[in-house]
Amino acid sequence: MVEVQTLISTDRGRQLDFHHATPTASQVWQLLELVPDPELPMVSVVDLGIVRSAELQPANIAQEPQWLVQVTPTYSGCPATDFIASEVHHTLKRAGVPNRVETVLAPAWCSSWMTPKGRAALKEAGIAPPLDNITTLACPQCDSRNVALLNQFSSTACKALYRCNNCLEPFDYFKTI
Ligand SMILES: [Zn+2]
Repeated sequence: MVEVQTLISTDRGRQLDFHHATPTASQVWQLLELVPDPELPMVSVVDLGIVRSAELQPANIAQEPQWLVQVTPTYSGCPATDFIASEVHHTLKRAGVPNRVETVLAPAWCSSWMTPKGRAALKEAGIAPPLDNITTLACPQCDSRNVALLNQFSSTACKALYRCNNCLEPFDYFKTI
């Protein structure tokens, strides 16, 4: 959170101030990349695959043109959903980008939407990223496949707690859904 605030208020933030200019789609995506996931702050909402689309909606008589951003929470009923929508909205608004955020529940989010950058950030933080085949699960610390399940549910429902039998460190596995 602190890092994001710092980014917005420093050079990158100044480059991304659209109070007197019209942003391009790639600039809007750059701003969205500044929004961290509340439960996995090492991963942005873009790299987690939560942001489905960002499109400029044409002006009509009643409204100024604005960006419509669609987000799909990792789990429906996830308490972070409203928080994410609000963070996305305010991050764009602070940079001078008029926008509306819409939560889309179908199709449901799936872990394959996570980007390679998002997976790398999880591993860097000691969380094993989601896998197509659980038998390939490896310890994020030492890459050993000699691991044991301790608990199907870790700190959150989307993670399971494992222990590495090689380095003996416990670690979270972000489940594939
Ligand atoms: Zn290990």
